[in-house]
Amino acid sequence: MTEQTPTPEQLVSIDYKPPRKSWLDPTVEFRKGTYCYSGVPKHVEYLGLPNPREWQPFEPDWKLPPDWKRIILDGMKDRLDKYRSFRLFMDICVRCGACADKCHFYIGSGDPKNMPVLRAELLRSVYRRYFTTAGKLGRLAGARDLDENVLKEWFYYFYQCTECRRCSVFCPYGIDTAEITMIGRELLNLVGCNINWVIEPVSNCFRTGNHLGVQPHGFKDSIEFAVDDLEEITGIKVDPPINKKGTEILFIVPSADYFASPHYYTLLGYMLLFHEIGLDYTFSAFASEGGNFGLFTSHEMIKRLNNKIYSEAKRLGVKWLIGAECGHMWRVLHQYMDTMNGPGADFLEEPVSPITGTRFENARATRMVHICEFTADLIKNNKLKLDPSRNNHRKVTFHDSCNPARAMGLFEEPRYILKSVCNHFHDMPENTIREQTFCCGSGAGLGTDENLEMRLRGGFPRANAVKYVKEKFDVNMLTCICAIDKATLPGLLEYWVPGVEVGGVHELLANALVVEGERERSTDLRGDSTEQSGAETTDA
Ligand code: SF4
Ligand code: SF4
Repeated sequence: MTEQTPTPEQLVSIDYKPPRKSWLDPTVEFRKGTYCYSGVPKHVEYLGLPNPREWQPFEPDWKLPPDWKRIILDGMKDRLDKYRSFRLFMDICVRCGACADKCHFYIGSGDPKNMPVLRAELLRSVYRRYFTTAGKLGRLAGARDLDENVLKEWFYYFYQCTECRRCSVFCPYGIDTAEITMIGRELLNLVGCNINWVIEPVSNCFRTGNHLGVQPHGFKDSIEFAVDDLEEITGIKVDPPINKKGTEILFIVPSADYFASPHYYTLLGYMLLFHEIGLDYTFSAFASEGGNFGLFTSHEMIKRLNNKIYSEAKRLGVKWLIGAECGHMWRVLHQYMDTMNGPGADFLEEPVSPITGTRFENARATRMVHICEFTADLIKNNKLKLDPSRNNHRKVTFHDSCNPARAMGLFEEPRYILKSVCNHFHDMPENTIREQTFCCGSGAGLGTDENLEMRLRGGFPRANAVKYVKEKFDVNMLTCICAIDKATLPGLLEYWVPGVEVGGVHELLANALVVEGERERSTDLRGDSTEQSGAETTDA
């Protein structure tokens, strides 16, 4: 937090009274703390994206190409022709308002243009003006001319949407505002209006295979470091292969797992688990990133980044894949992969657990199994020896990360694992979890520092639900299965609910996992003492 960061008391006094000016007025104030900085030219250039240049959103001159308006309208026409969903979402909203109060950015800011319905109207008003007959009536029909102020307003609000899809759960027509935001960002990209927190990781991914630009030797060093740490804590020396050809499984992690904390403890967890069950797997130093920031850039970029995982699976000659605790990797796999780089990854086999014999029919198309599905199946078949009392110092709740929850319905498996490895588990209120889960407020490339105020506002509903279980059950750990969540929730909780740590499901699994030949453990994977007992208080 900086000196300029408002206090929680200041942020929570939210004014929900709509402003006097019409919503058709596009003027926005780029106030520090509420917007993200522009894409750095060298990264824009590296990706071959248009109009690389020095500029910032708060400057009056955005240095747009002379024919920017034509480029945007042509781009809109192309996408209306190409994506049936986009045209449908532009046409069918009845403005019923069911989505209006469901967005965490609206709840946390009180800005009506953060209501999903109004966020979509920013684009829809231009669609009406140029692509419908009624639009000739202009403002009467809710239509607006496209001008620079409208473009700037798009930038401001489409980079205040985390593409979390909570609003779509409540829309009677199934309108997915995240898809509208994606098109909005794609159009902005056509004239070079993007943010660096998205563009730099994407460019790094093309150079080195991961968001941070870690090179193969750096990746190897990180894994070796983790091997040493695990040995120190447990007395067990694991031997994780990297780039090994002909193994049964390729294991894909988000890069934060091997360079950031608290992700790192989850990485230790996977490695210990795989050692204990004798899994025949390999990491890849090339497909060293599960995350796909293409999702926050354009459909074309999603496709290019997703392809890397499957190219590497082919090169290494594996049979199928396991994917780690990552968020948007799973959204891309479940919602886009099969049509973008499919259908089907036929050179791979339908996944079958070598330990339990379970056939993962749900992964028939992607050939990739979520680590929580894989581990829950091991526990269900009594293949793991677990001592949940080793997590007695943790009173645990679970944040359903938006993408695994809403894009693939992964609600029960993480909870099943947690309840098997912890004696104290408490869910947050029903309307804040599972498909109604509240976003961390920092997804979709918004997890940077310059927009911290907006992130703290957007994360307020999530933090509020954590506060509830902290006060009611003394919860001191929020678990989740997404790298962005693990990166951003610690700061959010420190601000709104101090005293609650953030961890991964496989971190707690490994704390409880009794490994053959291990030394007696007096600390968890973080080195924290486990010397605290408690009665069983797991929620049903
Ligand atoms: S709930 Fe759906 S139909 Fe109703 S205003 Fe929102 S987007 Fe439009
Ligand atoms: S997708 Fe999420 S962030 Fe975007 S408008 Fe809907 S609820 Fe808000």
